[in-house]
Amino acid sequence: MEILEQPVSVLKGVGPKKQEYLRAVGIGTLRDLLHCFPREHEDRTYSFTLAQLPHGRRAGTRAVVTGSPRTKRVRKGFTLTRVPIADGTARGFALWFNNPYTPKKLRVNAEYDFFGRIERRMGDLQIQNPQVVKATDGDKGYSGSIAPIYSRRGRLGPGDFERMISKALSTVAGRLEDIFPRGFREEYGLEDIEFCLKNIHFPSSLKSLEKARYRLVFEEFFLLQLGLLLMKKELKDKGEGIAFEKTPGEGRLIDGLPFKLTGAQNRVWAEIKRDMEGPRIMNRLLQGDVGSGKTVIAALALLKAAQNGYQGALMVPTEILAEQHFQTLSDVLSGFDLNIELLSGSCTAGQRREIHSRISSGEIDIIIGTHSLIQEGVEFKRLGLVITDEQHRFGVRQRSALVAKGTNPDILVMTATPIPRSLALILYGDMDLSIIDEMPPGRKRVETYVIGEKVRDRAYGFVEKQLKEGRQAYVVCPLIEDTELVDARSAVCVYRELAEKYSGKYNLELLHGKVDGQTKEEIMRNFRDGSTHLLVSTTVIEVGVNVPNANIMVIENAERFGLAQLHQLRGRVGRGESQSYCILICGSGSRTAHSRMKVLAESNDGFLISEKDLQLRGPGDFFGTRQHGLPELNIARLPQDIDVLKHVQSAVMELLEDPGFISNSEWRALNLRIGDFFDETRLPTGVI
Ligand code: ADP
Ligand code: MG
Repeated sequence: MEILEQPVSVLKGVGPKKQEYLRAVGIGTLRDLLHCFPREHEDRTYSFTLAQLPHGRRAGTRAVVTGSPRTKRVRKGFTLTRVPIADGTARGFALWFNNPYTPKKLRVNAEYDFFGRIERRMGDLQIQNPQVVKATDGDKGYSGSIAPIYSRRGRLGPGDFERMISKALSTVAGRLEDIFPRGFREEYGLEDIEFCLKNIHFPSSLKSLEKARYRLVFEEFFLLQLGLLLMKKELKDKGEGIAFEKTPGEGRLIDGLPFKLTGAQNRVWAEIKRDMEGPRIMNRLLQGDVGSGKTVIAALALLKAAQNGYQGALMVPTEILAEQHFQTLSDVLSGFDLNIELLSGSCTAGQRREIHSRISSGEIDIIIGTHSLIQEGVEFKRLGLVITDEQHRFGVRQRSALVAKGTNPDILVMTATPIPRSLALILYGDMDLSIIDEMPPGRKRVETYVIGEKVRDRAYGFVEKQLKEGRQAYVVCPLIEDTELVDARSAVCVYRELAEKYSGKYNLELLHGKVDGQTKEEIMRNFRDGSTHLLVSTTVIEVGVNVPNANIMVIENAERFGLAQLHQLRGRVGRGESQSYCILICGSGSRTAHSRMKVLAESNDGFLISEKDLQLRGPGDFFGTRQHGLPELNIARLPQDIDVLKHVQSAVMELLEDPGFISNSEWRALNLRIGDFFDETRLPTGVI
């Protein structure tokens, strides 16, 4: 057994109690323990003179104690003990809160090394709650090292981890098998695993820490990426799926459309058709910006399945979307003799039972619905195609639950979120990718303006002009309610303001995450039907509806959103005949925010925008697991480590030119490791 697979109990001093605490936080093996990386490091390499000590951070110094400690009781249960110190450059105090004991041990006129938080207040220099040790020549005391800082986990404190990890490191020393052979490490500039584990915890220098971290981030991405691609290959190799026949319906559907498919639509349809007609299971991601025309592709695939005598299911995240798709598909497929049904949350129990029975008898050819499709009681006679349309992703389990209702059905996942290729590869690396990178012709570009708060009134004047012409409007705010913590306009407050302004003339409604599900659907329905003219909301409208008559969107405090998110929001308008507008109001006149927003005014290309977002933005919604379902990363961080990810991807691609590489003896350790890397909980997407 590899040394890292040994249980933590092999460490001296880790008895039953510690083992239990460790187990409680998911640590069983030496690998688990050594992969508990420090939250941060404290650079103690510099030693300062008293005069140089930097205010407001932790730092170390060597100084002489010049007097005895004095303890003051500040209030009940709270004491302060001060010890005067000096070093020839300045005088100051070491200061302890509620700890009169440590200072008592210090001897006047002796020299010590101190390390603690530095405060300078009105000429008074303090080192607060310092660690202290007698100074010895040739040893720099607390200074001179880069110290790991661990988080507390369960009943184990930072000190516990420091001690156990240090022991674990000496136990594994000289006995580690590197998953990367030497030649590979040299090619990609990676240090060996022993160096990295040691230096990620107790670095010998900042440079070593950086090198260690680089390799460990590389390794994490590498295992994830390689695992996904291998899995995809495995599915390909053995997945016995349905080989659908060619049918005449497809051509007839295409010919009957009121428009010509775009080149991109034709291309992706050919890709999907080839997969469906092949004997293997299709596992394909269809990516296309909002409005690029994915629905008709779904219709083609569903029709093909149905004409082959199979059932197709389309699962979407919201009721409104389900209804919308139901209408569109019923319309597009009306010339074919198919039974299309909507399984909606508003069905009565009786209706639901009836639909269930028509699904299981095979009478229904195409069923559209939300999560209701994966509930118990839904049994298919011959489910052959599963499509999910996910503005927000379904979890792995939900998708596979639907897939499990068939026998090896083909899978098509549609997404409107433009994901840069590098990320798509780790989010959906197990799937084949089809991209609609072309908009239907004649689509009017949404005119986008970035304005400051000073001209806010004019913007709303323009909104009113649109309303007067019979159009509808969205106003999006970053917050539900006002809060003192964030300086931004809230939906509640903007709603109140506008309700007053437009009172008696237009109907307004307010929509946000705290509105309950049923009311939410009702509000959306009113807006879709046109009885509501202006909708004030938070980003909940992102999970979208198609309201072609809505042609203007105002986004308050636009600087608080990521570019990709703004682009998604903007996709709600520009769906009808009339010219559409998007007005981004930037608060606080921040110049960088303003220029960031300009990207949106200048481009309509979701992919370009999301690449820019990736470059410009720190962590934010874009990478929130909620939106993208990013796999859990232990050490790697996105977007900060995106460049490492790109290196990893080219390395993996190169290796996979010979997919059998992993059986070579030099990759033995990797081969063992990759097998258990993927337990289901870590899977980022719908690997079945
Ligand atoms: P999305 O990719 O966002 O789901 P939809 O499928 O809803 O986009 O398409 C948006 C609109 O564009 C629909 O009204 C649809 O009928 C129309 N459309 C789709 N393909 C074309 C095309 N090739 N030419 C013109 N209009 C198209
Ligand atoms: Mg769509």
